[in-house]
Amino acid sequence: MNFPKRIHINEVGPRDGLQNEKQILSARDKADLINDIIDSGVKTIEVGSLVHPRAIPALADTDEVYKLIDKPEGVELRVLVTNVRGVQRAIDAGMKKVKLTVSASESHNLNNFNRTPEDSVKGFRECYDLAKSAGLDVSAAISTAFGCPFEGDISMEQITPIIDAFVELGITELSLSDPTGMANPKEVREKSAYVLEKYKDITWNLHFHNTRDMGFANILSAMSVGMTRFDAAFSAIGGCPYAPGASGNVCTEDLIHMLHEMGIETGIDLDKSIGISRKVTKLVGHKTDSYLLRAGKVSDVIRERPLKQTLK
Ligand code: ZN
Repeated sequence: MNFPKRIHINEVGPRDGLQNEKQILSARDKADLINDIIDSGVKTIEVGSLVHPRAIPALADTDEVYKLIDKPEGVELRVLVTNVRGVQRAIDAGMKKVKLTVSASESHNLNNFNRTPEDSVKGFRECYDLAKSAGLDVSAAISTAFGCPFEGDISMEQITPIIDAFVELGITELSLSDPTGMANPKEVREKSAYVLEKYKDITWNLHFHNTRDMGFANILSAMSVGMTRFDAAFSAIGGCPYAPGASGNVCTEDLIHMLHEMGIETGIDLDKSIGISRKVTKLVGHKTDSYLLRAGKVSDVIRERPLKQTLK
């Protein structure tokens, strides 16, 4: 298998991770974490969500957090928005990038919004135009692109019209997302190869949850056909809305470790990333599914072997 030489990791822990935690962090703690992430070398961070405060109480102060964080050149700080009010909040807070999301599941969209996924995307026109007119970048995500708890399998034929609708809107950066951990490596390879070939002008990202321990296999599978950008969350926090108690996002430090062991660059300082993960476990008040926090790095356990025990 051929793999890319460098992988771009988007840290989504401050949004996808913390939104699922019972312990609500202060704006100061969230900002300190994000500043540590910037310091570790991560170049894209999802800092929060601008939705109704009652919808996600843990992220109700995203505007405040944004004020407190460093904004160095070359680091992309994005927030999730769902409507024009969210875009306006982003503009008012001086943010530079928003992300729109739609579910690929037709039944989910019809049940919740009484419209098809394509029509939901068309409904983003006002959001997109407002953001663009204020000079903001806009990216987007197609959720449940690898399966939906209500609908089951999601085919490429279902996803293509949604991608086309985003392209029509003007979107040039898209993510395929698996929030419920239903994707498998074969499907990921096929869908990745298809979209990379068909939509060459789109910057593609993939978003996996490790709900059923397929997250890393899915990333490797996507990398083997040329995907280079993946979301991950510090300390593997984050949940699955339809599987209570399930493990969360693909773990940032475990992913960096795997890639570095393979000789693939990330531009991120692994030790700093592990330090952030430790801090996160203290702040949320429980153990997490981070393998590195339990077992340490491979390089930590390599010892000098006495001559007699040298393996033959
Ligand atoms: Zn997610």
